[in-house]
Amino acid sequence: MAKIGNCGLCKLQKELMNSHLIPASIFNILMTKNFPNKPESNLIFEDYTRNIAITSSKQVTSYFLCDDCEQLFSKNGEKHVAETCYINDNNFKLLEELNQLKPSHVSSKGILYLGESIRDWQKFLYFATSIFWRASAGKWNSELVQTKISLGEKYQEGLRLYLYGQADFPKNIYLLIDVDSDPIEKTPLIAFPQSNKTKEGFFKHRFTIPCLTFYFFIGNKYHNLKDYYHQHNTNILINSISFKKTNDYDFILKNQCKIEPKGKRLKELTKKINEQKQF
Ligand SMILES: [Zn+2]
Repeated sequence: MAKIGNCGLCKLQKELMNSHLIPASIFNILMTKNFPNKPESNLIFEDYTRNIAITSSKQVTSYFLCDDCEQLFSKNGEKHVAETCYINDNNFKLLEELNQLKPSHVSSKGILYLGESIRDWQKFLYFATSIFWRASAGKWNSELVQTKISLGEKYQEGLRLYLYGQADFPKNIYLLIDVDSDPIEKTPLIAFPQSNKTKEGFFKHRFTIPCLTFYFFIGNKYHNLKDYYHQHNTNILINSISFKKTNDYDFILKNQCKIEPKGKRLKELTKKINEQKQF
């Protein structure tokens, strides 16, 4: 039976789709093309808030958007990102493009590019915004992942208007995209949106799709990249960096083996997480 309700984006009362938090097109790349036989054991979910990295093919969905708004998200961001992100070790168009460009800055922390230097950079901004916004504005229930982030009322509404084509991108939001530059044996990884407030007082939100991690820095407080954004009159930076040299990689190595949520273990994990929720 059709679900009728108010769409999160256009606010109109319409039939609602079973929307994905991380688009199905991103999952499908990994599941159907690369790992048709055992997709579950190759998709890793990171959860920093509870220090776990788990393997699962589970997707997080909610009746949240109407079909028109789903189409808008697809056309303005998802489709392009799904085509240019990591597909396999021989097909990663964004990294190939970056390797042809002149970097803006090179350091031990990676090779930095201005966002506007890549093709269709607006689609990356739109895609990242659509994920952070839906994580904040929607209700996402999952026993395996905690997905609630809060962008704050003002930013959440500003971003909704931007996504709906009724306003410019809000001020004081900066996007950073880490691109995994490891030449082979990349780590297909999904991390649902998570947030933390840094000691400098600004909010840092993040999520990961295979070989791309998106960060939103929100607020007018100082942060270490802020000067760089301002000097270059941009709010998007792209950093090409070997994933295996990052703290995230260490995190997975340290935490991945703790839980393998299959069959009985999956039930145990679910029970454990539900118990934790009660405290
Ligand atoms: Zn809608």
